[in-house]
Amino acid sequence: MPATEIDFYELLGVSRDADPATIKSAYRKLAMKYHPDRNQGCKENEAKFKAVSAAYDCLKDPQKRAAYDRFGHAAFQQGMGGGGHPGADFADLGDIFETIFGSAFGGGGRQQPRRGADLRYDMEIGLEEAFHGKETQIEIEVSQACETCHGSGATPGTSTRGCNLCNGYGKVRAKQGFFVVERPCPSCHGRGEVLVSPCRDCRGEGCVDRPQTIEVEIPPGVDTGTRIRLTGKGEAGPRGAPPGDLYIFVHVRPHPVFQREGTTLLSRVPISFTTAALGGKVEIPDLGGETNTVDIPAGIQSGKQLRVRGAGMPVLQGRGRGDLVVEIAVETPTKLSKEQKALLEQFRETETGEECPECRGFFERLKDAFGA
Ligand SMILES: [Zn+2]
Ligand SMILES: [Zn+2]
Repeated sequence: MPATEIDFYELLGVSRDADPATIKSAYRKLAMKYHPDRNQGCKENEAKFKAVSAAYDCLKDPQKRAAYDRFGHAAFQQGMGGGGHPGADFADLGDIFETIFGSAFGGGGRQQPRRGADLRYDMEIGLEEAFHGKETQIEIEVSQACETCHGSGATPGTSTRGCNLCNGYGKVRAKQGFFVVERPCPSCHGRGEVLVSPCRDCRGEGCVDRPQTIEVEIPPGVDTGTRIRLTGKGEAGPRGAPPGDLYIFVHVRPHPVFQREGTTLLSRVPISFTTAALGGKVEIPDLGGETNTVDIPAGIQSGKQLRVRGAGMPVLQGRGRGDLVVEIAVETPTKLSKEQKALLEQFRETETGEECPECRGFFERLKDAFGA
């Protein structure tokens, strides 16, 4: 269980969608107010200063902020973020919160061994792979239970003894300003007991880092921002505690032909001016390998969108597919033969202005406006 979690946004008094400038200014105000130089020896304000600084440290960094938005404080308890190794900045964040707001390990008992850390793995895939889904393997370093001590952290044959500092209680009390606060015992880290002889191979941690191959199944329909959780594939818990989870963060590369919005695929399709004027058909392959025939009505304009139902992306963990939207771009010819030019000249001589009502309307409005 994490310590009492006071929301970083709440600490700084800003909304969750606050922009960086707002966050910075909120932090500066609070930091000035609680800065140790202005609060001679006031432990309470010093702790507040540390807490708002920690909150700002997280929210000013877009990556940490994104991780925090997704996972809350769990994002920074050992390991989350980056390549899955402890972020030193946040190593004692839990302690800060416990110090200020009291321990969340209620009931006065010993602290249970913590679950292992969650891990994050960033995976980039193409739009086709996002369409079909895929099975793949990843190689990561994961801390796993130590084989020598079977995760206990103790040299085989030795055991634990009660902690002298906290008398086995797991917590110590300290006076802080007007308050008496309890915090996990620094000697036994809240366990209430210490190892008589820590295992040499894992230095008493009960786990060691080892490369591991993990099978990952990417379901059809994933998008950038999708995370896939592999329960129990994170780091081993200290001293035999349950392992954390592994999160695969999916990033989908941009596609040269299709833009994606949710399950909708959008493609800009150029057509000739004759097709635009006379109507016709265009054939668009979709990611499923099917060719879609799109009817072009006569007189279509650039920018018009035509929808092909069910030819978009699959619905993640659902049924059916989104739509394919074809955006028409009428191309003006740039290479005409003499003969074609002659034909168009001939066509121009027959023009009355009725053919292109928008042109005509525009020039009439222009005339009205300038009174010409
Ligand atoms: Zn060991
Ligand atoms: Zn202790």
